[in-house]
Amino acid sequence: MGIFDKLKAATPKKKPAQVAPVDRMALANMIVESITDGVIIVDAGNSVQMINPAAAAMVGYATPDMATGVNVAGILRFENGEGVKIEDSSNEVLGALARNESFSTRNYVLVNAQNQRKAVAVTVTPTKTGHGEKVITFRDIAKELEQEGEQTEFISTASHEMRTPVASIEGYLGLALNPQCATIDDRARKYLDEAHASSQHLGRLFKDLLDVTKLDDKKVRLHMVPVEMVDLVKQIVDGQVPAMGEKRLKYTFGSTNGMNTSEGGGRTIAQSAYSLVDVDFLREILNNLIENAIKYTKENGAIWVNVRGDSDRVLVNVTDTGIGISPDDLKHIFQKFYRVDNSQTREIGGTGLGLYIVKMRAEAMGGKVWAESSFGEGSTFYLSLPRLTFEEYERRKQIQANTEMMTAAQQQPTASAIPSNGMMAGAPVQSQAISQPVMAPQPVQQPAMQPQVAPTVATNPTAGTIISS
Ligand code: ADP
Repeated sequence: MGIFDKLKAATPKKKPAQVAPVDRMALANMIVESITDGVIIVDAGNSVQMINPAAAAMVGYATPDMATGVNVAGILRFENGEGVKIEDSSNEVLGALARNESFSTRNYVLVNAQNQRKAVAVTVTPTKTGHGEKVITFRDIAKELEQEGEQTEFISTASHEMRTPVASIEGYLGLALNPQCATIDDRARKYLDEAHASSQHLGRLFKDLLDVTKLDDKKVRLHMVPVEMVDLVKQIVDGQVPAMGEKRLKYTFGSTNGMNTSEGGGRTIAQSAYSLVDVDFLREILNNLIENAIKYTKENGAIWVNVRGDSDRVLVNVTDTGIGISPDDLKHIFQKFYRVDNSQTREIGGTGLGLYIVKMRAEAMGGKVWAESSFGEGSTFYLSLPRLTFEEYERRKQIQANTEMMTAAQQQPTASAIPSNGMMAGAPVQSQAISQPVMAPQPVQQPAMQPQVAPTVATNPTAGTIISS
């Protein structure tokens, strides 16, 4: 017998402790009464059956008894993060209760009976009792949001600060590789080439990180302006034609009206399609999609961009004859940091943030993005945005022009505001009217190649075409 076995044999066996029979109801009550999360149980008619002290305090009632029996719609008043009241018709908590569905959000601010506000995470969970009761929980997330804000701020500052030295490294490596600036042997060139490519990758990573932090930044405001989409999309995509030329990719831009498209054909008649967009966001979306199309398409492949409209939406497609995406990966490509990992993509640099940014930007403008792909044959990325009629476009352009005129007028110092010495106290004199350009200038470049035969693309999902959004 070994020493451990002897010790074990010598140790007296402990009798199991005597536990009083468990009163599960009492324990459940104890939990609900003492937790700091708010819990409300409502019946099928949404009247409060049980509310714990934490929930009563959150909704601004002195005791749970005071809230018992009232209709929950009267105590669940919310605002969004911008302080805008959420009307009952768009209150998703009430919607989930009515439909007996699960729901959760972190985007609501609870307004209590005393009109005090608290950022909360709310969940609605239907019970399985068969009588239609639902459980609503609240968690105070003010601290969480503050910490997330600090994290975002840190990532944003760090990425911003690091971009400058990385740009400088990239610049100097570029100079070292330029035969007109430096003489290096072939071995050194190989190493410097690698270093140059990595510094470029690092620069892109910081840029993407910055973009992602901006997505969560409430200070970034949308600047929606009415635009004609065919011209604007063409103008943006044309900026990438030289990059397509470097990989000898055939590029076609063709715009058609409705589904009346000559699929696979070259140019079609350009029809105007109007929409309301943030031009910087649209540029970010298209640049990301085109960069991907270039990156994931082998030399001599093809890229086709098209803009078309139906009665209520404008649809842009970016189609390539690239490596394609497998059905399994297609489900995830719009997630933050998701990268396809296979023998073909391993060599291609990326951060997995581009399509996440694309999705967030599109949704911020009231649009949608999704993708179809046939593995090994190519992919199509779609962006759909609400369409404006020509009359609505004209009306909004007029409003925009008036607003710009008024802003410009407000920026002009009035005679009475200028002291006799002609200097404004404190503020610098604004001598020029500030107006937002409808479209930021973009270098218009002639396509490197004449439009060629476009790659075949399925406008409607067909068998064998996988869809992801
Ligand atoms: P990345 O920086 O990796 O390109 P993205 O978010 O832009 O990140 O894309 C996510 C993944 O989706 C990529 O890693 C790539 O595998 C796949 N992908 C995106 N666009 C295409 C495309 N046009 N063709 C094939 N695969 C693509």
